[in-house]
Amino acid sequence: MNRPYNFSAGPAVLPEAVLQQAAAEMLDWHGSGMSVMEMSHRGRHFEQICDEAEADLRELLSIPDDYAVLFLQGGGLGENAIAPMNLIGLRAAHAADYVLSGSWSVKSCAEARRYGDVAVAATAEQAAVVDGAQQGPWTYMPDPASWRVRPQASYLHLCSNETIGGVEFMDWPDLAALGAPDTALTVDASSHILSRPMDVRRAGLIYAGAQKNIGPAGLTIVIVRKDLLGHALPICPSAFDYTIVAKERSRFNTPPTYAIYIAGLVFKWLKQQGGVAAMEAANVAKAGLLYDYLDGSSFYRNPVHRPVRSRMNVPFMLRDDALNAPFLQAAEAAHLLQLKGHKSVGGMRASIYNAMSIEGVRALVDFMKEFERSHG
Ligand SMILES: *Cc1c(COP(=O)(O)O)cnc(C)c1O
Repeated sequence: MNRPYNFSAGPAVLPEAVLQQAAAEMLDWHGSGMSVMEMSHRGRHFEQICDEAEADLRELLSIPDDYAVLFLQGGGLGENAIAPMNLIGLRAAHAADYVLSGSWSVKSCAEARRYGDVAVAATAEQAAVVDGAQQGPWTYMPDPASWRVRPQASYLHLCSNETIGGVEFMDWPDLAALGAPDTALTVDASSHILSRPMDVRRAGLIYAGAQKNIGPAGLTIVIVRKDLLGHALPICPSAFDYTIVAKERSRFNTPPTYAIYIAGLVFKWLKQQGGVAAMEAANVAKAGLLYDYLDGSSFYRNPVHRPVRSRMNVPFMLRDDALNAPFLQAAEAAHLLQLKGHKSVGGMRASIYNAMSIEGVRALVDFMKEFERSHG
């Protein structure tokens, strides 16, 4: 079967080999006589699935032993509340600072305001001149040298890949160098986790909804330094208290078992591909192909400041908005799915996560060339 190429921002494409293995194991997982969906989360079969998934994720991201890995529910937006409930009480001031770089970090910041003294450390909401180039709102990353991190802040929050705006920021700063050595860096990495090596040590907390670059919706990955545990606010539900969930090895209550299983298959697939360094090389090639074409065209454009263009989510506009509907219709006919841009940005967006092949990106670029030729 020839599947179409799926450019959805999330839930998103999964590796075909993973879907096939899951299909083959659907009725009987490894001779257990059960589907993974039918197993006790406390039985030996699921224990093996869960433990292997954690071990493979640790290996892929080189997660040090003094970090806990948690499999939670609630998604990225759930984590916007769960993270402050767990971390804002770390220091007496109950303060947290947020870097605003697009829609997702703005939402994170608004949610956190319920739980303590929240301030904006930096924002990209204004148009600005960046490295000599005029940039529109939410198309660049504020320079870390300009971030105002309060020394009493329990944590500083960052979204390191803004899925909607297409802004990716990998040079996670050392907060000690910004005058806040006791402030924990908290990163929403939902839409680019496992797309490249990440310096886990730079962060106190990394979280990601699984449905972008890992697996099915319903699973949230949390990676947290253990010395930050033990400060949850009294209102924090037990099922979302990192300390309790870590102690129970993600089985305090029933975790999203099937989603963990699929994520585990994706982790094994990633290891077979050569791990995150190999994924990074592939993602650089894929993104390069698309951005090079966009930059050479006067028919399409990407508005994001070049050094922080996302390798995962590539928004692009057509010269004439009236061509959006015909573009999407022709793309679907050419088996290129879910290219419509987010309504707040307009135009198109191609999400090219790990599971999107270079052939898929080539097919998209070929299609865009042909559309430009016939409508330009
Ligand atoms: C998709 C996304 C979210 C929201 O995830 P939900 O699981 O829908 O709550 C949060 N942050 C980022 C960066 C995302 O891409």
